[in-house]
Amino acid sequence: MSYNTDENCLFCKIIKGEIPSAAVYENDEVYAFRDIEPQAPQHIIIVPKTHIASTNEIDEENSKVVGAVFAAAAKIARMEGFAENGYRIVNNCGNDGGQTVGHLHFHLLAGRSLQWPPG
Ligand code: AMP
Ligand code: ZN
Repeated sequence: MSYNTDENCLFCKIIKGEIPSAAVYENDEVYAFRDIEPQAPQHIIIVPKTHIASTNEIDEENSKVVGAVFAAAAKIARMEGFAENGYRIVNNCGNDGGQTVGHLHFHLLAGRSLQWPPG
């Protein structure tokens, strides 16, 4: 399978193994790894392997990867043992959304009761 990749992108480098990460789950379409600055007892980043800058770039052609991310999240929740207690999936988009890495990613947060609304 071939992916779009951006040689200046942090998460593309992580996907290629050029930057080390703590892998949690991987398949043909997605890679999941532990966040370096966890905001909850469990904080896992799930990315599509193909480079997509943000949710703004999701369209009918590439939206299948979002389903693959959520299928991976459900699998990881069972694997890591927090499916029953629950969890949150967050996607930050753009400046106001708080996005700091320009490769579409979803935060999978678990292990404590999470507050609502977010800040
Ligand atoms: P966002 O702010 O939504 O763009 O999320 C980016 C996330 O990537 C943050 O939660 C960071 O802590 C995380 N992060 C940045 N660099 C790394 C890295 N090298 N390994 C794992 N997580 C990272
Ligand atoms: Zn990328």
